[in-house]
Amino acid sequence: MKKLRLTVQLLFTIVTNGYLYGFLNGKIYRGGLKYLCVPGLNCYSCPGAIAACPIGALQALLNQQGFQIPFAALGFLFLFGSVLGRFVCGWLCPFGLVQDLLHKLPICKKKKRLPCHHILKYGKYAVLILLVVAGSIFLWGGFAKVPAFCKYLCPSGTLLGAIPLLSANEALRSQAGGLFLWKLGVLLAIVLLSIRVYRPFCQYLCPLGAIYGLFNRFSLVQIHWEKELCISCMACESACPVALSPQEISRSPECIRCGKCVDACPRNCLLFSPKHRG
Ligand code: SF4
Ligand code: SF4
Repeated sequence: MKKLRLTVQLLFTIVTNGYLYGFLNGKIYRGGLKYLCVPGLNCYSCPGAIAACPIGALQALLNQQGFQIPFAALGFLFLFGSVLGRFVCGWLCPFGLVQDLLHKLPICKKKKRLPCHHILKYGKYAVLILLVVAGSIFLWGGFAKVPAFCKYLCPSGTLLGAIPLLSANEALRSQAGGLFLWKLGVLLAIVLLSIRVYRPFCQYLCPLGAIYGLFNRFSLVQIHWEKELCISCMACESACPVALSPQEISRSPECIRCGKCVDACPRNCLLFSPKHRG
């Protein structure tokens, strides 16, 4: 499972950011595929991106003149959420892969969670409401509408969009100012924290994880727990990077469906299954 997941993560990242011409020339692909969303965070401004980011699309549609319901972005989010839930985070999001790799660096003692996790885990819902939705409809009193999450926070956009784009495009590089430095600081903080804590951005700040987490209980991809076979050894909870117990797995919005618990169970009582059984 571990190797399979890493392979899928790498392949998905390469395929969805495979526009080599863009990397070589510092240009963004603007073809027809950009009207489609990929499931994970995938910055529109990444020179290699062949499709759009669902959070970026949601903000762009909310940002239009006059309020309009962003049907297209909501449709993609509903489709990916109802089929996959947070399987997207565990298997298909490029920035999830980046954090996974950083956490593997054998530099310091590893932690699954930050202190005050039970409060901080709601940070991603605050980001969703304040930056993605409110920031795009009206910002701080209704004077300006901006895709506030992309502009002020998204470290994935900085790493996979801004940095490669500015590296290859001198004209854009000369315009980079204080805002770019702020975003570099956010990225650096997430990178350093990811080495010690498991996926801090996914656990505490990602608005896409917040949305897909709401679908986890109902999505088609589930992890089913055969309670009758369980001997309460808690090997699954020890293996789980976000410390979930077997009772919590199928309903928790924090489960990223990584499958580590499935691999760890000595009784094979945790199984990926297409939907809830029984
Ligand atoms: S409960 Fe299992 S699938 Fe979910 S995050 Fe933990 S180890 Fe991964
Ligand atoms: S590892 Fe398997 S047997 Fe042990 S507590 Fe978890 S589900 Fe039960």
